[in-house]
Amino acid sequence: MSLQIVHFNDPALRKKGAKVTRFDAALRSFADDMVATMHAAAGIGLAAQQVGRAIQLCVADLRAVENEFSWELDGARPPLELFMPMVVVNPEVIPVPQPELVYEEGCLSFPGIRGDVTRPDEVTVKFQDGHGTPHVLRCNGLLARCLQHEADHLNGVLFIDRMEPATLAAIDAELKAPKKRTREAAKA
Ligand code: ZN
Repeated sequence: MSLQIVHFNDPALRKKGAKVTRFDAALRSFADDMVATMHAAAGIGLAAQQVGRAIQLCVADLRAVENEFSWELDGARPPLELFMPMVVVNPEVIPVPQPELVYEEGCLSFPGIRGDVTRPDEVTVKFQDGHGTPHVLRCNGLLARCLQHEADHLNGVLFIDRMEPATLAAIDAELKAPKKRTREAAKA
């Protein structure tokens, strides 16, 4: 089932997600719906806040992207097909501070809007899957960027918060459109 994605600046996007403590069928069904919603929107990541729920759960699927990146999951290097789409619960992101790279990010809650964001290229992510099993993923490139972007969502942080003032000024006019639509949808 596809869920409704909320757009900037719906208040749900600013809520810090509660830690997930129950790994039951309802949680896994919600995660399945998140994956279906992400695929329907042709995104590579989606956080629970973006469908109006403030919990520490996001999903990611980078099988279709062309970018090169590397990863090590629980000390092995399984093919992407074996662990994607990923359900990432209660993530803790530990960045490798250098190098930091600039990349033009988009976000399903900001349709059509892109802007440069600087982030560390490599991270270690400690998380649980939909069954509560703990994992450690070390990765770089677009996978590391995607997980940093999604983990930010889980804490109510948006990519615009990480943009340089000049980047933000350049997209300021574009931000008015989703703001207005969200305001009008709230009234309807
Ligand atoms: Zn996003």
